[in-house]
Amino acid sequence: MDENSRALYDRALSVAPGGVNSSVRAIHPYPFFVERGDGAHVIDADGNRYLDCVMGYGPLLLGHDLPERVQSAIQREAAAGPMYGAPTEREVELAEFVTRHVPSVEMLRFVNSGTEATVSAVRLARAATGREKIVVMQGGYHGAQESTLVAGEGHHTTPSSPGIPESFAEHTITVPFNDAEYARGVFENHGSEIAAVLTEPMLGNTGIVHPVDGYHETLRELCDTYGSLLIFDEVITGFRVGGLQCAQGALGVDPDLTTFGKIVGGGFPVGAIGGRTELIEQFTPSGEVFQSGTFSGHPVTMAAGLETLRYVADEDVYEQVNALGQEVREGLTDVVADRAPEYTVVGRDSMFKLIFTRDGATDERHCTAGCRQDEDCSRFEHCPKDGADVGRADTERWERLFWPAMKAQGVFLTPNQFESQFLSAAHTEADVETLLDAYREAL
Ligand code: PMP
Repeated sequence: MDENSRALYDRALSVAPGGVNSSVRAIHPYPFFVERGDGAHVIDADGNRYLDCVMGYGPLLLGHDLPERVQSAIQREAAAGPMYGAPTEREVELAEFVTRHVPSVEMLRFVNSGTEATVSAVRLARAATGREKIVVMQGGYHGAQESTLVAGEGHHTTPSSPGIPESFAEHTITVPFNDAEYARGVFENHGSEIAAVLTEPMLGNTGIVHPVDGYHETLRELCDTYGSLLIFDEVITGFRVGGLQCAQGALGVDPDLTTFGKIVGGGFPVGAIGGRTELIEQFTPSGEVFQSGTFSGHPVTMAAGLETLRYVADEDVYEQVNALGQEVREGLTDVVADRAPEYTVVGRDSMFKLIFTRDGATDERHCTAGCRQDEDCSRFEHCPKDGADVGRADTERWERLFWPAMKAQGVFLTPNQFESQFLSAAHTEADVETLLDAYREAL
């Protein structure tokens, strides 16, 4: 039964392009409209309940029912007044928390979205180096920004959306993730023009794709040799992968700049750019690189992010949620081995994804963190290594099976093949069983 969602979608189509405010939400034939959240579930406008493995596309590490202390912090802040256009103690405290835990971050500027963070990080890198080119991963995603919405290979790139001048793409070079030699070649030809390499530590929007051993170390070394900056986009992985140190802590590689979003705002709109003091201080007003925003450091967001992270630190949330992630990946690996051995389970910590790779995407290179994250994984060599491997996945089959088949069983997954699924502290062992049963049935 979904008459209410259907009617809402009809109304939405008249007033919003595609009926939605973010394109991924436009699920065929129509999305369900959410009435409310409940722990690890969402309930739609027709009263249907879904086990939620989307979790707002990542921000909801604690699920939909925030702990009492997080709720009170949010309510206290909202009741005091929505915002001020003047600083509050909360933004200092959240910045202090992040700098205490994330190895490469000494200072940060808060903004309102991951997109804003990557836009400002690229501007800062260009200003700090006096160079214009940036290197991004093929198939990578860094938000709705002109410089990174590109298609193509190497420096033969074009904008991937109408409305973006060709000249933006001229400054963007794409490289295949995990291909150290390709990156080396790009630096040998263009090193002195490259302001920055911008990459997710593991591709979360295309895959998931794990870094092979030594890949980020090579990027680090190339950036150091050629005077370019290494930017880790930790909008997804920040405070989800690698615990409070984020993915960079788990990898043991320090980027020059880090972009954050999602979890650091506790479920409210957020972004941040962090790094060494001498770099971040180049933002206005201490420096000259223009950066500003009416809502930046919004007090409710800051309160939500701060109390969420404090709670996570106090309650060993990562231990619990990452163990559930491991259970899901292992269980799913068994289901897949039984029902669809040509597909692949990937992920780490509280992220997972079943990729419909048709041909197993095998090659010489080795994945360091497959579905089981150890050398015993029987499907180790099948993990995709770059955006092209993932691009060969059977997206039509994913759409046919997983939106209708999983939704019919009351499971909410990201509606396309490429985006990660997320677990939260609200998920339980029983939810894992429900989820695995649903996959088994669907496959
Ligand atoms: N970078 C990455 C790695 C992302 O996954 C996203 C969004 N999913 C963004 C940037 C953009 O963030 P936002 O949607 O908050 O603008």
